Amino acid sequence: MAHIQLNPRIRCVSISDQRSNYHVPGDWKLIWSLHVPPKIKHFCWRLLRNSLPTRSNLQSRGVHCQSTCVVCNQDLEDEMHMFMHCKFATDCWKVVNLWDKIASYMTSSGSFSSIMFATVRSLEVEIHARFVAMLWSIWRARNACLWEQKPVNAHTSCVLALDTVRDFMWCNRSNDTMQSATPGWSKPQAD
Ligand SMILES: [Zn+2]
Repeated sequence: MAHIQLNPRIRCVSISDQRSNYHVPGDWKLIWSLHVPPKIKHFCWRLLRNSLPTRSNLQSRGVHCQSTCVVCNQDLEDEMHMFMHCKFATDCWKVVNLWDKIASYMTSSGSFSSIMFATVRSLEVEIHARFVAMLWSIWRARNACLWEQKPVNAHTSCVLALDTVRDFMWCNRSNDTMQSATPGWSKPQAD
């Protein structure tokens, strides 16, 4: 029986080439260290790697669909519009009191991921979770608008983002408290 032996050198070259093609520079450690649920980290990973199915991305991959924003139906729906320039997004940032902190980045040049990394880096650590949870909540609202015809509501999306962060932190604190309060096993005293 023929036995095919893979050449490990070829496999290594192939994998490293693939990785370098998809490498997105930025402070990824900061993203992985955020105090948010894994689903929001995963969302950030997709967002920063330009892999969310925005209409702009779908069209660039050959999908025939409308190009305008699902929410406002006015401009090309890319990441910059969806999360920063769309009126719904700016309303959300204002409700969650982050607009003043991030507005200056709206006119920055560069890729969306580089602007996002710069924005996160500029924010105080205690605001990081609120910022990325809001991005996630905007995307959820956009999807609900597209697939369930639910009108977007900035206040509702902000409540979802803040509640998600608060619940995650509360659960983590509870786990820490339970672990520190759980008595360890100790040898019973002999009579
Ligand atoms: Zn829009």
